[in-house]
Amino acid sequence: MTEPRCGICELLASARLLQECFRCNTPFHLNPYSNVEGIDCGDAVLANDPESFGIEYYCNPCIDAINDEIAAAQAARVRLDAVERRPGWRA
Ligand SMILES: [Zn+2]
Ligand SMILES: [Zn+2]
Repeated sequence: MTEPRCGICELLASARLLQECFRCNTPFHLNPYSNVEGIDCGDAVLANDPESFGIEYYCNPCIDAINDEIAAAQAARVRLDAVERRPGWRA
């Protein structure tokens, strides 16, 4: 029998301390006890989608990727706003 292993830091982990990432399905360390020393290789975030019961779990690489996507989307939005506000510009 193989021990469960964190897909991020590749250390062995007890199954109750592992969560599966919603994005890449990698099991990763998520310490459910914020008052106890533990490893976190990802995070729980409030979901936009109410059907996922309000909480989604993402590993650290996916959180970075999601943040990059949000930043890119916001940057694109800012550029679009700048175009739309240009005087004389018509769709
Ligand atoms: Zn880990
Ligand atoms: Zn992930």
